Amino acid sequence: MRQSSLVVVANRLPLDDNAAPDGACEWRRSPGGLASALHSILRQAPATWVGWAGGMGPAPRLPDIGSLRLRPVPLTAEEQRGYYEGFANATLWPLYHDAVQQPVFQREWWDTYRAVNQRFAETAAEVADRHAAVWVQDYHLQLVPQMLREMRPDLLIGFFMHVPFPPPELFMQLPRRVELVHGMLGADLVGFQREQAAHNLAQLAKKLLGAETTAGAITVGGRTVRTGAFPVSIDVAEMRALATRPDVRSRARQLRRDLGESKRILLSVDRLDYTKGIEHRLTAYSELLRDGHLKVRDTVLVQVAVPSRERVESYRDLRDRIEGEVGRINGEFGRVGETAIHYLNQPFDRSQLAALYQTADVMVVTPLRDGMNLVAKEFVAAREDDSGTLVLSEFAGAAAELEQAFLVNPHDLDGLKQTLLRALSADPADKQARMRAMRRHLAEHDIMAWARAYLTALDHTGRLARRML
Ligand code: UDP
Repeated sequence: MRQSSLVVVANRLPLDDNAAPDGACEWRRSPGGLASALHSILRQAPATWVGWAGGMGPAPRLPDIGSLRLRPVPLTAEEQRGYYEGFANATLWPLYHDAVQQPVFQREWWDTYRAVNQRFAETAAEVADRHAAVWVQDYHLQLVPQMLREMRPDLLIGFFMHVPFPPPELFMQLPRRVELVHGMLGADLVGFQREQAAHNLAQLAKKLLGAETTAGAITVGGRTVRTGAFPVSIDVAEMRALATRPDVRSRARQLRRDLGESKRILLSVDRLDYTKGIEHRLTAYSELLRDGHLKVRDTVLVQVAVPSRERVESYRDLRDRIEGEVGRINGEFGRVGETAIHYLNQPFDRSQLAALYQTADVMVVTPLRDGMNLVAKEFVAAREDDSGTLVLSEFAGAAAELEQAFLVNPHDLDGLKQTLLRALSADPADKQARMRAMRRHLAEHDIMAWARAYLTALDHTGRLARRML
């Protein structure tokens, strides 16, 4: 078997599965993100990506993505329930997002989570060359670093948490808290979106494992694990290229005509998830309509709410609530030919999103908690002419970087209403200055810069760089 000097381990492979016209399953590279970053920074040796291909049973033939080989990890339907829908998305996800939804602690999910993590670790151990670097991604695979270290002490192991990592008061609720912290500390470098998360891990390591900590380092069992903040980003060049494509431009003009040339367009694009603050946003918008501060004659909200995790009960309940509320608002405030909210419960591809981003006057990104929020960055990258305004939650990781956005606490409904009004009526020169500053920041902090910064920090002895960067 061919082995790699760099192995990425993530829940999903960087692929979308599409049904081909003849009904067969066809694989297509999922655009943007980590896969293209690796593609552009890996100069010499090929890398391998280990992940679930989606669906059940073994994946069919998978194509290489340039110099990236794909190695699928199969999951049974029961494993998907216990590991993915259960422990990852009904226990860890809500707990890591400030418990804005009550986490579910179901004992049998743990065994499946551990067994699936073991399988990912074994697969990574198989494909990793001697002294290779293995980069493990996210909350689905928190036990993998330690499992891997036990199997392959020669490896350089990195772990990156894309979602928030909570303060001890919350994390301590987890019945398996010791194992989870121990699992992450199998890495040589644990990266987070924000510095506060690294601090949270250090406190937990001290409390649960008796570790010694200094800024950026946790020492336990004679080993030192480094920690740090590496805010993730987007493929800025790709979004810019999309935004300037003639068909995307023309689609944006068409959307503007369809929504009303004179209307002020508010846009939100979220997975339909309780962390995204969609209900709070709808309440603020409907109150602005009721107060008379906004009128459907001159303002419209486009809410994209992509179906997500629909096999988890709380997500189905949320969808029912949101759709009820959208119906109520449209029923109360709409007129014939004038809708208060265009609600789209469907996924859009990147060129459609680029057109939507260009159509918006105000992009409203108000999660209650979010590791980063890439939509906010994509919107900024899509506005080549420095127009448009971003309203951004303080509780999104992106707020630490996009400081020139109209920042808001989404729990504070009056503050949210006022901020929406301020963003709608901001002075054009002020809006442009804000957008220009955000675009400048993004140009220097794209996904390539992120991957390079993380891998360089992981590779502090330089042995990976000598082989492949
Ligand atoms: N997205 C998409 N189609 C859609 C809506 C969203 O491809 O219809 C993409 C969007 O471009 C972004 C990602 O999904 O890259 C969402 O990332 P984000 O960090 O904003 O939120 P997450 O869904 O990861 O919580």
